[in-house]
Amino acid sequence: MSYDVIIIGSGPGGYVCAIKAAQLGLKVAVIEKRATFGGTCLNIGCIPSKALLHASEVYAHANHGMESLGVEIGKPKLNLEKMMAHKDATVKSNVEGVAFLFKKNKIDSFIGHGKVLGEGKVSVTGDDGKPQELEAKNIVIATGSDVAGIPGVKVDIDEKVIVSSTGAIALDKVPEHIVVVGGGVIGLEMGSVWGRLGAKVTVVEYLDKILGGMDGEVSKQFQRILAKQGMEFKLGAKVTGVEKAEKGAKVSLEPVKGGDTEIIDADIVLIATGRKPFTEGLGLEDAGVVLDERGRVRTDHHYQTNVPGVYAIGDVIVGPMLAHKAEDEGVALAEIMAGQAGHVNYDVIPGVVYTQPEVASVGKTEEELKTEGVKYKSGKFPFSANGRARAMETPDGFVKVLADAETDRVLGVHIIGFGAGDMIHEAAVLMEFGGSSEDLGRTCHAHPTMSEAVKEAALATFFKPIHI
Ligand code: FAD
Repeated sequence: MSYDVIIIGSGPGGYVCAIKAAQLGLKVAVIEKRATFGGTCLNIGCIPSKALLHASEVYAHANHGMESLGVEIGKPKLNLEKMMAHKDATVKSNVEGVAFLFKKNKIDSFIGHGKVLGEGKVSVTGDDGKPQELEAKNIVIATGSDVAGIPGVKVDIDEKVIVSSTGAIALDKVPEHIVVVGGGVIGLEMGSVWGRLGAKVTVVEYLDKILGGMDGEVSKQFQRILAKQGMEFKLGAKVTGVEKAEKGAKVSLEPVKGGDTEIIDADIVLIATGRKPFTEGLGLEDAGVVLDERGRVRTDHHYQTNVPGVYAIGDVIVGPMLAHKAEDEGVALAEIMAGQAGHVNYDVIPGVVYTQPEVASVGKTEEELKTEGVKYKSGKFPFSANGRARAMETPDGFVKVLADAETDRVLGVHIIGFGAGDMIHEAAVLMEFGGSSEDLGRTCHAHPTMSEAVKEAALATFFKPIHI
């Protein structure tokens, strides 16, 4: 069988690329080794974690946060089985949605293991173990990523006691104590879920801050807020061992700067130290496709590998491991393969942590601007001075706008606060169009909204905010 495009992997990179390519008139097939489409994101990542974050937040709110609003509901009861069923149903409807879109766009799909045989040739091996050969003008590697583990430490992830995020979204009871190794997005989101449901949560992080790449001020305040919610932190701590014990597991750690080893007992240990590109069994070596020093498929600016007609997108190539980055690359590549000019602006890729409050950022952090020697000005506005935040009892956090000191062009926006993940997009659109902080500060914002804090922070970069 012959196609214009064969895509290996049906995650946000692969499935979006497939749909866009089909919309542009190309004959497309997708190969997926999982039984369902949607990749990490829809099956075991973004979607199930957000279903649990939402449900656990509702529970936490009912538990702690309604009396002052005049809503007395008594002690809420957790039904974890139902919460998990809500998560599973959310996943099911999303992965079925992708299958529907494949049919609607006349995309052929093959369930099985895909392998690149070389220029224009791919094989797919299904349950019967018999490889079937397919031909295509273009081959797209969109095989995503996998759990990275702890560098230098052998850890046996059984997904029951020592879990990755995959096990952490499927625990059958609330642990008394969960130790999260890694203070990044996934660790803090899953830690929040189990913390809200009643677990004691200890986060062990190698760096001396959580959310390593985030703006330092945001990271500091975020840690304070999470600590207030009950999360414990061991920063600057190196995990040297994780082992199963008679009951639960033991985590050994020592200060990065040197010092005594400490051993923490846990019911569950979540390994959330990041993800690595997934290229196993793809036949890339035999096909001559070159990887970089970190095991990512090396591509040029048009997602082309060193083998003509073989492309790669998403978590398996360089860049932030985010679903929307993979999706945008999928669209850009489909356009390129259809003879158009596809492009992704890597300077404007928002990042969101879906905790409560949310943390969202786009563009440069203050630390990055300082390192790059860029002269900038900063405007900040706290939600405690925002009317809507007061009305909703969500006063935690702030908005920070960073703009070029000479041109006033907005270079970065960082928000910690309720709904930050949605608010960040006005900054993203502004930055995509090269807008200035004065553009933002003079744009009429509806009152009363949390977004008024974005306008006020922008005002603060070139004059003064009104409400503080
Ligand atoms: P993937 O989604 O990983 O899909 C790759 C697919 O390729 C998989 O289905 C795999 O089975 C298939 N595959 C691999 N090899 C083969 C082969 N040889 N043959 C056939 N099929 C193959 N990102 C966000 O932007 N927002 C979030 O809120 C968010 N939350 C997350 C929460 C968790 C717990 C995790 C783990 C990740 C989260 N991410 C989030 C990251 C996001 O899931 C990834 O960035 C995204 O899925 C990458 O998309 P992709 O298409 O590159 O790869």
